[in-house]
Amino acid sequence: MNILDGKHVSQVILSNAKQQIEQMQAKIGRVPGLAVIIAGNNPASASYVKSKAKKSAQAGIHSTLIEFDAAVSEEQIIDKIIDLNQDASVDGILVQLPLPGHLNQWKILDHIHPKKDVDCFHPLNQGRILLDRSSIFPCTPAGIIKLLDYYNIEIKGLNAAVIGRSFIVGKPMAALLTNRHATVTLCHSRTRNLPELLRRMDLIVSAVGIPDTVTADMVTENVILIDVGINHIANYEDAVRLCDQEETAKFSRKGYAITGDISKQAFKKSSWFTPVPGGVGLMTVALLIENTVALFNQHHSLV
Ligand code: NAD
Repeated sequence: MNILDGKHVSQVILSNAKQQIEQMQAKIGRVPGLAVIIAGNNPASASYVKSKAKKSAQAGIHSTLIEFDAAVSEEQIIDKIIDLNQDASVDGILVQLPLPGHLNQWKILDHIHPKKDVDCFHPLNQGRILLDRSSIFPCTPAGIIKLLDYYNIEIKGLNAAVIGRSFIVGKPMAALLTNRHATVTLCHSRTRNLPELLRRMDLIVSAVGIPDTVTADMVTENVILIDVGINHIANYEDAVRLCDQEETAKFSRKGYAITGDISKQAFKKSSWFTPVPGGVGLMTVALLIENTVALFNQHHSLV
């Protein structure tokens, strides 16, 4: 089993982005701007947003965090998005999901200008992804494709399963793999005989959010395993069973440990796998930065 090392590959992407941003600053006189909107107090969302802001700043992006409390109205967020659409210093806008339950996310996301839509949430961009006509692609699936490309893993012709059909990960992941000539099965909570289906696969992407969604008995030898899931494990015994050693060692300091959807025993059967943490999550942040740079280039007609 070989690691698809998100830590290493994301660093490569970040240092390329940093170089490009320095050149942009010299040529255009400003750096790319990213605005991230967060509403409510979901601790996982807060920690993702913190990491996105930190990495963006390290790369030289000007990132602004706009925080609303949980009782915010749709109109307040939409008004902010309209301002950001008109702000020439902002190239990318990201609304961190999930939003508090009383808000209609579609109504809000429809207001992001398609040319500033850094994670491709707008319906126009979702359509462009399917047509393979988008200039940027959603951060998590695009990060996974970059990771596979970095290690020269040929996607063409693979039998691939994507588990989870969210519009931010599962559906676009299936589209991106199809665009790269894999034969894709998109699975979800109502899929019948998932284990039997998975045993026929060369590549499995799991984006569910439940530990042990994919276990060793469900996979064939030499399968490629991509673990998107992020699960917080608050019980030490469960952490020992589910998390990798390094992560379990952090349990006493943090009071929790993180694991993905795919079991350690399944990884042992794989040819390539993404660890959690240290895999897809870091690539997602790197692609957010790469996409912001791409949108900046488009705004200045540099591409
Ligand atoms: P979601 O939470 O919106 O939906 C989960 C999906 O899993 C649904 O489509 C559902 O049908 C499917 N599902 C649920 N139970 C299932 C089962 N038993 N068998 C098969 N399918 C089942 O999905 P999301 O927002 O894409 O998030 C999924 C996971 O990925 C979460 O853990 C989230 O935290 C993580 N995530 C990670 C990153 C990253 O950068 N690593 C990015 C986004 C999401």
